[in-house]
Amino acid sequence: MTPPSRSPRISVLLPYKFEASFTYEAETALPPGTLVRVPLASRMVVGVVWDEKADESIKAKPVAEVLDFAPLPQSLMRFIDWVAAYTLAKRGDVLALGLKEALLVAPPKRAKHFPFGGANPDLPSPVLSPAQATASTALRADVAAEKFSVTLLDGVTGSGKTEVYLEAVAQALRQGKQALVLLPEIALSIQFLERFAARFGARPAAWHSELTTAQRRETFRAVAEGRADVVVGARSSLFLPFPNLGLIVVDEEHESAFKQEDGVMYHARDMAVVRAKFSSCPAVLVSATPSLETVENAASGRYKKLDLPARHGGASMPTMRAVDLRADPPERGKFLSPVLITAMRETLGRGEQAMLFLNRRGYAPLTLCRTCGHRISCPHCAAWLVEHRSLSRLSCHHCGHTVQKPAKCPSCEAENSFVPIGPGVERIAEEVAELFPDTAALVMASDIITGPAQAQDAASRIERREVGIIIGTQMVAKGWHFPHLTLVGIVDADLGLAGGDLRAGEHTVQMLHQVAGRAGRAEAPGTVLLQSFAPEHPVIAALLSGNLPEFLLQESTLRRPGNWPPFGRLAALIISAADERLADQIARDLSRHAPHGSGIQTLGPAPAPISLLRGKFRRRLLLKTTRDIAVQPLLREWLAKVEVPRNVRVDIDIDPVSFM
Ligand SMILES: [Zn+2]
Ligand SMILES: [Zn+2]
Repeated sequence: MTPPSRSPRISVLLPYKFEASFTYEAETALPPGTLVRVPLASRMVVGVVWDEKADESIKAKPVAEVLDFAPLPQSLMRFIDWVAAYTLAKRGDVLALGLKEALLVAPPKRAKHFPFGGANPDLPSPVLSPAQATASTALRADVAAEKFSVTLLDGVTGSGKTEVYLEAVAQALRQGKQALVLLPEIALSIQFLERFAARFGARPAAWHSELTTAQRRETFRAVAEGRADVVVGARSSLFLPFPNLGLIVVDEEHESAFKQEDGVMYHARDMAVVRAKFSSCPAVLVSATPSLETVENAASGRYKKLDLPARHGGASMPTMRAVDLRADPPERGKFLSPVLITAMRETLGRGEQAMLFLNRRGYAPLTLCRTCGHRISCPHCAAWLVEHRSLSRLSCHHCGHTVQKPAKCPSCEAENSFVPIGPGVERIAEEVAELFPDTAALVMASDIITGPAQAQDAASRIERREVGIIIGTQMVAKGWHFPHLTLVGIVDADLGLAGGDLRAGEHTVQMLHQVAGRAGRAEAPGTVLLQSFAPEHPVIAALLSGNLPEFLLQESTLRRPGNWPPFGRLAALIISAADERLADQIARDLSRHAPHGSGIQTLGPAPAPISLLRGKFRRRLLLKTTRDIAVQPLLREWLAKVEVPRNVRVDIDIDPVSFM
């Protein structure tokens, strides 16, 4: 007697909060990576056949449909497993980073609206400087080798790094491979897409949060089928199903925007290196102000390094000068010093443009009652409400809570008693309007310029010189090329240093150096004025001297002895709960069971700098180890020892960038 034939069992990973795959019954064995629709509880969901052994003994529901779709490549499946193991996120959540929007709404359809591919690597040959040509040759050789490697392309602002790595992209195309360029910000991609189109005669596929679901679905499919030859995308583009990846470029690799801070907390720069490894292709990390992590990897020989030491096309680096606000203070209640105002006047007089940088949105960061000293704060967060005068509103920059500005003080009922404390970009714009009533000014901040179309419009207005003065937040720091901009004023160079976290100095140097790099990118030389109450601070000194390697050397001598990153490993535990005592109790329980041993240290618990966020009280613990100790097994063991009730959340942040 023959036993009744049984349908094969398969494992399916679902893009939801599950670590394990689910077992289903298939009519025939399906290859790993196949996309299927399967029942989950009472609904149908899309999942991926995972290459792990299914349990043949259990009763399983049948697969409802095998989707007409190229299987996810093995390299992506291994990458998803790796990222989940490294970040301690659920594998389903990691799968969802690429899969959710594109596929969950409906099964993918054939592309209809968006052309993909068609980039011509040999359209125009750009004229490269000798340094650019040397770097480009080295990168093209790496791409041609079709092997894993990591290279830091370190070039001063305006040195033509983009032209160099686009030649590496061209090489990938010549080899019939796909290329991925990761960018930190959508705003940057507008100028970038045009530049790309000029070089290759076709636009790359874009992947960012502003795409419609239909665009996502079509892009996902075009990538999977290899029709999208180049993708320019935000961090989650790392999780697209490239079958034939030949190069990953991470532009502005130092940017903290590459770190995702919610859901799956991962650093896209670091994960790009891992993705390149699984795809056996080179990764190129690009920056004028590389992170200490990357610089150390280059110094130790783990990464290769290419330098572009001079500006392209004969432009010189801007002159940097400090304005000591103790000696040259602004008028009372104002924020621009006489030296800066004079320099702006001279610049505008020559028909050139000036930019003022202040990394703070809104009108004023704090609103205070003059009568009783009451400060208007967010009811859900340990934070002040920020005034946005153009909207006559106060809003919380952490949770979005927004109120009309009250007529009376809620504490003492005094009328017209509120005063704004400190400046945001709107307040600087007001001061500029008083000083330069005949000059058009433009504010660039993420709450005013909210999408690519608006950013493009702003950039065109600046290029056409319809605007004399640009006032911006960190949005202006990245990638922009404005040939008539010759003066940059940093309104408050000390601002980023107050936070005091591990990388406050490094991030301030990077951001201000990037902003300074906007000045004098064409023939006319640029000047940068840094307003500071402490020009002698090492960060300001490093900016003035322009000697960033020296600054990073100082940073490493500070971090090395205590095993702070990149010389050691760090993981943060963030405990949050609506009940403050419960948050404290779990934080103490965790602290009691903290791992210990040689090379292992735990710090905390301590209230988070934002100790109340969206109505949840927050406590933090830090686990710090030497480089030779992996934190993941320690964390798994640690968390298994403490029972965490359902109304308390413990988030794990491996390699934290933010300490808020
Ligand atoms: Zn009051
Ligand atoms: Zn809030």
